Amino acid sequence: MRETDVLIIGGGAAGLFCAIEAGKRGRRVVVLEHSDQIGKKIAISGGGRCNFTNLYTGPENFISENPHFCKSALARFTPQDFISLVENHGLGYHEKKLGQLFCNDGAKNIIELLLSECADVGVEIECGSVVNSVSRKDRFEVETNRGVFVAGSLVIATGGLSIPPLGATDFGYRMAHQFGLKIRDPSPALVPFTLSHQVQKELSPLSGISIDAIVSCENHEFRENILITHRGMSGPAILQISSYWRPGLSVTINLLPDVDVLELLRDESNREVTLANFLSRFLPRRFAQAWCDLNAPSQPLKRYTHAQLVEIAEKLNRWKIIPSGTEGYKKAEVTAGGVCTSELSSNTMEAKKVPGLYFIGEVVDVTGQLGGYNFQWAWASGYAAGQYV
Ligand SMILES: Cc1cc2nc3c(=O)[nH]c(=O)nc-3n(C[C@H](O)[C@H](O)[C@H](O)COP(=O)(O)OP(=O)(O)OC[C@H]3O[C@@H](n4cnc5c(N)ncnc54)[C@H](O)[C@@H]3O)c2cc1C
Repeated sequence: MRETDVLIIGGGAAGLFCAIEAGKRGRRVVVLEHSDQIGKKIAISGGGRCNFTNLYTGPENFISENPHFCKSALARFTPQDFISLVENHGLGYHEKKLGQLFCNDGAKNIIELLLSECADVGVEIECGSVVNSVSRKDRFEVETNRGVFVAGSLVIATGGLSIPPLGATDFGYRMAHQFGLKIRDPSPALVPFTLSHQVQKELSPLSGISIDAIVSCENHEFRENILITHRGMSGPAILQISSYWRPGLSVTINLLPDVDVLELLRDESNREVTLANFLSRFLPRRFAQAWCDLNAPSQPLKRYTHAQLVEIAEKLNRWKIIPSGTEGYKKAEVTAGGVCTSELSSNTMEAKKVPGLYFIGEVVDVTGQLGGYNFQWAWASGYAAGQYV
């Protein structure tokens, strides 16, 4: 039997950050990670360069049943706080776009930073630890393949369901269930869409093409690239909107966000220029041609009727697709939903009904948009719990 003050299950971004903060307070901390190494998601994040925060992080960048829940933690540990840590470790970083900060030399920098901070404050990390059961008497007893651990504070930092080969499990949700805490149904988010067989067949000649577009669903919209793939649609704008999409809803894509297509077509409606040539002024030529093949066989603009021009403009400025689904957890960058925020203190991340039990990071029903927000939530929620565990 091993006794410690704080036992953290899950050695990802949130778990390690909480461990560091608790260690700084002189708490004895053990992290149990079931994989053979910590931080596997960090290692592959941001295309291998880890988009570790976003300069413009605010509560509006998160999806949650209670949009106010994340405010307190985000205010107490800001992007600038994490940047200072990165700078103190002498690590180079750059802004790619829209406030997204990436490591110059790869995501391993962030893992090394976390491991070095853990070592400085004596955090013990036990990889390859499989938790068999958790019980609570006056303290928590956690039975594992490496013996029984006993701790006054138990932190669940096991993340969501995305990318099972990287170690994702439903452990956090099972723990919430065991202790009587409500869960908001998890679902894949920041995930590519799949399309009906028919639409997919029609779009496949366009696969590989990326276009700057405005993508909207319900009251949300994002302007970034969309990418047509062999399986459906991806690209940052699609990933962003996928987090707000629910089965059955349509998604509207404005392929020419800076152009009122109808107005332009009207202006040119007595011209010899073909539709494909006209469109290739604004869109990749291959896309313009294939789009015409699909939607309106190309001919000189003056041969279209007014009604046809209206229809063409509508399809370019308001192209509606109904995704048949998503590529699911095997491709989702994050998991939306999770432990209900109403069950947790926004100050400490402690379960209101179960003193000493904490949930942090992605396992909580707080989901960031694409762009470094999910790591900022992991750091901020880990920091918040780390002050109290
Ligand atoms: C491909 C990809 C790229 C991404 N890129 C970015 C990016 O650039 N920027 C960004 O902000 N976000 C990015 N994300 C999202 C980000 O990685 C996560 O939101 C973040 O890692 C969540 O941190 P976490 O600590 O809560 O969970 P995780 O990082 O998932 O860590 C959970 C840990 O718990 C362990 N675990 C699970 N079950 C158990 C168990 N039963 N017992 C013991 N251990 C267990 C897991 O092995 C894992 O190590 C990306 C995600 C993916 C999949």
